[in-house]
Amino acid sequence: MTSVFVGGQTYLNYMNGEWRPGATGQTVPSMNPARKSEVVGYVQSSSLEDLNQAVASAKAAQLGWRKLPGSVRGDYLFKAANALERRIDEIAETMTREMGKTLPEAKGETTRGIAILRYYAGEGMRKIGDVIPSTDSEALMFTTRVPLGVVGVISPWNFPVAIPIWKMAPALIYGNAVVLKPAQETAVTAAKVVECLAEAGFPAGVLNLVTGSGSVIGQGLAEHPDVNGITFTGSNQVGKRVGQAALARGAKYQLEMGGKNPIIIAADADLDLAVDATISGGIRSTGQKCTATSRVIVHRDVYEPFKEKLLNKLKGITVGHGLDAGTWLGPCANENQLQTVQSYIQKGIEEGAELLFGGAAPDHPDLAEGFYIQPTVFDKVTPEMAIAREEIFGPVLALIQVESMEEAIEVANDSDYGLSASIYTQNISHILAFIQDMDAGLVRINAETAGVELQAPFGGMKQSSSHSREQGQAAIEFFTSIKTVFLKA
Ligand code: NAP
Repeated sequence: MTSVFVGGQTYLNYMNGEWRPGATGQTVPSMNPARKSEVVGYVQSSSLEDLNQAVASAKAAQLGWRKLPGSVRGDYLFKAANALERRIDEIAETMTREMGKTLPEAKGETTRGIAILRYYAGEGMRKIGDVIPSTDSEALMFTTRVPLGVVGVISPWNFPVAIPIWKMAPALIYGNAVVLKPAQETAVTAAKVVECLAEAGFPAGVLNLVTGSGSVIGQGLAEHPDVNGITFTGSNQVGKRVGQAALARGAKYQLEMGGKNPIIIAADADLDLAVDATISGGIRSTGQKCTATSRVIVHRDVYEPFKEKLLNKLKGITVGHGLDAGTWLGPCANENQLQTVQSYIQKGIEEGAELLFGGAAPDHPDLAEGFYIQPTVFDKVTPEMAIAREEIFGPVLALIQVESMEEAIEVANDSDYGLSASIYTQNISHILAFIQDMDAGLVRINAETAGVELQAPFGGMKQSSSHSREQGQAAIEFFTSIKTVFLKA
């Protein structure tokens, strides 16, 4: 491929319409997980002083921004989408170098980011209230929606373009000003996204970026008295802290967190399609999706043939650098993530599951410098094992055999998480039972667990979410407050 990427540059914070170095003057390198020695870029290691300046500029700018018509705010988002589209190759390559996702996936994600910006640009022209009949015949009663004010966005590294955009675009269109704190792991990609957005010419202060550690900038944002709403995607452990900090000072918060997503394979399933969905859902993006398939619950009548087809297909998967054509599975995004995956593989073995496939680094000298792990499958997994209960966030599948569809749904529901779940069957009774009884925010029939269209609500149940929804028109619920108006002449 022809590279459009220049490595080793330094990226600044963005606030009040200007690119500024952090107050500490310190930067941290962002590294390539496929080649540990490659510096993708340097980002600011910011302090609370930088955060305070960004929040102050957002607070001042929001007063004017909220007064603009939604269609005018939408024009800025259209321009931002065009700017991102012009740099799609560079941003996708940066993402691949910074977190290991294959280039086609990175390009797909960036395309998604562009589409999200355009979707929310259009939302600026849609209705924001309802008329409600009053019992007073001389009055008019209706609702309207107002922005929260300053919204803090805390995003993870696994979708470094799509997630910040699907939080910032609705925040902005409904009249909020934004301060983005992206994951340190992918802060270069985030800075480039903000460069594109800034190209749209938003009024100074409406859009701000502060890079830095989660414990300083992330926590500072969650605790900041002038931040009226916090939207967070990441781990449960951090999400709970962010939620508590926001709750303690009465700010609105939205938490999208982990998953332990099941796929159910019924006795009548098309096994070839089910195998493709299991591999695509569980192994793509190195299993580092909140909606990744991790529990594979298979009816005993098709357990052996399903397993055989799964293993045959896995043998054809190419592990490699995300920039190389033909690579299907890139590295884990960082060393910590690789160690977590390795420790779960060890735990699975110790708990008595049978390691059927993978389990170790691929044996290839070209991959020795990266955080690689083979796709891994465990057989004879029981629901109480850690590999069946805890989020691994790696390309690890746990096969669980069940006797009936009732048992399948029971096992699928036996989890602290409830993000996404899928079933492969043509049986309408099984489908209906699954739709009604499955405790998950996304239920998918004859489709993999990962994936949801951008115009549809996205979010989880149980510990996967704070139960609000992102994406589509559902986003208006979080990014605005309802005002009920009673009007009498
Ligand atoms: P993470 O460690 O929780 O980090 C998420 C973000 O929080 C990062 O920007 C991080 O900053 C920041 N952070 C860390 N400590 C903080 C603190 N004390 N206060 C405030 N912010 C803090 O999660 P991750 O490892 O980046 O992402 C993986 C997790 O995200 C998985 O659990 C996955 O399931 C979840 N996820 C969920 C969804 C969904 O929609 N449900 C989507 C994608 C991912 P640093 O970069 O400095 O650590």
